[in-house]
Amino acid sequence: MKEKVIVVASGNAGKIREFKEILEPLGYTVKAQSELPPIEEVEETGTTFHDNAILKAQAITDAFGIMAVSDDSGLEIDALDRKPGVYSARWLGHDTPYDVKNAQVLDMLKDVKDRTCRYVCAIAVTRPGNKPVVFEDSVECVVALEARGTNGFGYDPIILYEPMGKTMAEMSKDEKNSISHRGKAVRKFEKWLNETDTH
Ligand code: IMP
Repeated sequence: MKEKVIVVASGNAGKIREFKEILEPLGYTVKAQSELPPIEEVEETGTTFHDNAILKAQAITDAFGIMAVSDDSGLEIDALDRKPGVYSARWLGHDTPYDVKNAQVLDMLKDVKDRTCRYVCAIAVTRPGNKPVVFEDSVECVVALEARGTNGFGYDPIILYEPMGKTMAEMSKDEKNSISHRGKAVRKFEKWLNETDTH
């Protein structure tokens, strides 16, 4: 059988490991982008998670004629016109620690009643000669009144998932995975992989 190689279009070790855990049991050889010759850095110029995920994976497919996967995710706060959205990583300073950013967000929302927000995740798969395929999902939450919990990362301590009465940072890894934007998008991707001959 022909080897099925897929490149994870990311420099993030955690993301590469996650995709390996999904793809290797299905017979794929997973390569990190860093194992290929460098290409010009892809600017995330899209206005949606969907478009940015495609941009990152398509750049690899175009450069090397190989299957690639990438993801793009972020937080949308309704009272802030859905900010930070695709700017989630860069918003309030790329290198600002999240406890500082989260305190700033709580301050911005201190008099705001409508605290609805959501995490969104888009996973894009690109293959030579095929249209990109995108799996997207989200989880509806509210911005908490105070930070709670130490698990997770990023905005998790201030993002309250009301059905569980917990912030994302108070959940175990499995609990978060069962309801999260990324968990749900990954399960759509896995279903597609099981149903699709990617050659
Ligand atoms: P990406 O790695 O370019 O997709 O950027 C995702 C950014 O969105 C992260 O740096 C966080 O700021 C935010 N984000 C996405 N998913 C989560 C999550 O599950 N918890 C906390 N923050 C998240």
